Amino acid sequence: FLRGKTAIVTGSTSGIGLAYARAFAAEGASVVLNGFGEADAIEAIRAELAATSGAAALYDPADMTRPDEIAAMVERAVAETGGCDIAVSNAGIQHVSPVAEFPRDKWDAVIAINLSAVFHLTQAAIPHMVAKGWGRLIATASAHSLVASPNKAAYVAAKHGVVGLTKTVALELARTGVTANCLSPGYVWTPLVENQIPDTMRARGLTREQVMNDVLLAAQPTKQFVTPEQVAAAALFLCRDEAAQVTGANWSMDGGWTAA
Ligand code: NAD
Repeated sequence: FLRGKTAIVTGSTSGIGLAYARAFAAEGASVVLNGFGEADAIEAIRAELAATSGAAALYDPADMTRPDEIAAMVERAVAETGGCDIAVSNAGIQHVSPVAEFPRDKWDAVIAINLSAVFHLTQAAIPHMVAKGWGRLIATASAHSLVASPNKAAYVAAKHGVVGLTKTVALELARTGVTANCLSPGYVWTPLVENQIPDTMRARGLTREQVMNDVLLAAQPTKQFVTPEQVAAAALFLCRDEAAQVTGANWSMDGGWTAA
């Protein structure tokens, strides 16, 4: 149902972003892949997306700390694929430290990538979406857009900020056919999470089960991880005409975490 549309997904070389890219391609969209990684691996993903969609698939290396590169990525998508219809702000980083010792450069980097990049992508995409009378702005926020955890000051501040930005944009664009929404997963089963398990097992003398249930899923009442494909399915729904009245929302997918 997305044939003829273009979806830009930041941070789509891995994890949740890659699942969005695959879901959009499976619906026939042209996809702009973005994020860091090994050139060969990225080219393999790009080729896979093009084969799946039967449409263009581009890779753009825009660094989310650089507003000019974000704007250039949007202009390139329009020039090479004919539009920028869906813009997913997904790239994100984490830094864990008590606030009193939080390094300034880490604060700046987390805010730049997790919050300011959402503003820059949104600003660059809006004119193209409004011109077509249709657009979907989607941000991967987090359960940390609603609740805090210790030692994650920059991440929690950035994710709360993304929700405020999204609400503002939704109001400004309410009569344009463009919606703006956040998806807020709890712990998602990505390689990033999986790779933490052996170290935590060793460091705390725990079994794999204990690390998963008592450490990673401590806050998630279902005791199950969200999957990247589940997050991507919610994004697809937001792109449907049935979701035209969903705007300014922050949709939790966290196994009940923020219900507690
Ligand atoms: P990931 O580390 O697998 O992917 C992050 C992506 O962002 C990668 O493609 C990486 O190359 C890219 N990236 C990092 N810095 C960048 C930069 N400066 N410029 C461009 N790209 C950059 O992480 P993930 O778990 O898939 O997370 C994706 C999003 O989901 C993030 O915003 C994260 O905060 C959010 N999230 C993740 C979880 C989780 O449990 N994994 C939970 C809630 C929210």
